[in-house]
Amino acid sequence: MNLHEYQARALLKAAGIPVPDGEVVTTPEEAEAAARRLGGKVVIKAQVHAGGRGKAGGVKLAGSPEEARARARDILGMTIKGLVVKRVLVVPAAEIASESYAGIIVDRASQKPVVMVSPAGGIDIEEVAARTPEKIFRVAVDPRYGLLPHQAMGLAFKLYRQIDQVRAAARILEQLYRVFIDAGASLVEINPLATTPDGKVLALDAKLVVDDNELERRPEIAAMRDLDSEAPEEVRAREAGLSYIKLDGTVGCCVNGAGLAMATMDLVKYYGGEPANFLDIGGSSNPQKVVAALEIITADKNVRVILFNIFGGITRCDDVARGIVEATGKTPLDRPLVIRLTGTNEDQAVAILKEAGFSALTDMDEAVRQAVALAKERA
Ligand code: GDP
Ligand code: MN
Repeated sequence: MNLHEYQARALLKAAGIPVPDGEVVTTPEEAEAAARRLGGKVVIKAQVHAGGRGKAGGVKLAGSPEEARARARDILGMTIKGLVVKRVLVVPAAEIASESYAGIIVDRASQKPVVMVSPAGGIDIEEVAARTPEKIFRVAVDPRYGLLPHQAMGLAFKLYRQIDQVRAAARILEQLYRVFIDAGASLVEINPLATTPDGKVLALDAKLVVDDNELERRPEIAAMRDLDSEAPEEVRAREAGLSYIKLDGTVGCCVNGAGLAMATMDLVKYYGGEPANFLDIGGSSNPQKVVAALEIITADKNVRVILFNIFGGITRCDDVARGIVEATGKTPLDRPLVIRLTGTNEDQAVAILKEAGFSALTDMDEAVRQAVALAKERA
């Protein structure tokens, strides 16, 4: 789950990291009033789940409260990477002497959190990584001990020469590591980590991605979810208890179990097709999940054929069949359906489907080949 900048800032601030105060507003008039309270000269920042807002025109400096209103009017309602800006953050404009980068990610290779810093901050860190990788410094942290003081100091020395600034940055890295662990994050970033002309070190931007699996034990963070800013089909899938990830292909997949869902996508690709999604209806037997899954898959206009691949264990094939019949009874399908099911209550499932005019296969390979062929025919 992505947090907005203003939410991430609040968590950083609570951990002691120096972050300028700000106010979140939804109208130009509120932006003007906020700017007045914050001392006149402010930065107006679009609150959307996208990086590169600066480049896209979503971060603007305003020299006065009146100008703050005008800039907020420009930014509210604009679209950045497909996301409509509904809120802006108003923060006092800091004077910037230098911009660095600090971030922590979960590194799959070392299976540890990796703390990264770069003196080339401010802009796209991906670009720095691609063009001048020698400007990024990393330390893998043993989660049993956390980020140790000497590791934090070592990284901070890569950013600054003045000892006060080095100490300030080291402290910020240790605090950032606490936020990362306490929030159950998979990524946290400060970019820019700025210095001011009078030597202070400040976090001027914050990005935090929380691992969805950590949300159950962190209700206060789960409550920060902004449904407005997520893809509607993904919201719908989560509410229905489905694991769904939209992809760009044409074969809509409805599968039980993540492993089988991955194997199905592999096989679709193997036979020259492209999966339109990953969708795991999970282990439980519930026709309603199948109804929801079909609604979500058919809402995707790229889908040319729908492929069910069910290996009945705890999931009962007859429940899946009932879901298919119920869903297609309500809204008849406008695209072909290929059904493969085998396992628990397979015979009942075949009977239910047959009565409704559907046929089912038991062989996965054959089902995938059929689905890919149909998708190609309908190109
Ligand atoms: P991003 O483009 O989405 O990462 O948004 P940022 O919050 O990082 O803002 C982009 C750029 O705007 C920063 O790299 C800064 O150069 C500039 N910026 C952000 N906040 C301030 C500020 O308080 N004062 C000044 N002068 N520039 C700022
Ligand atoms: Mn930034």
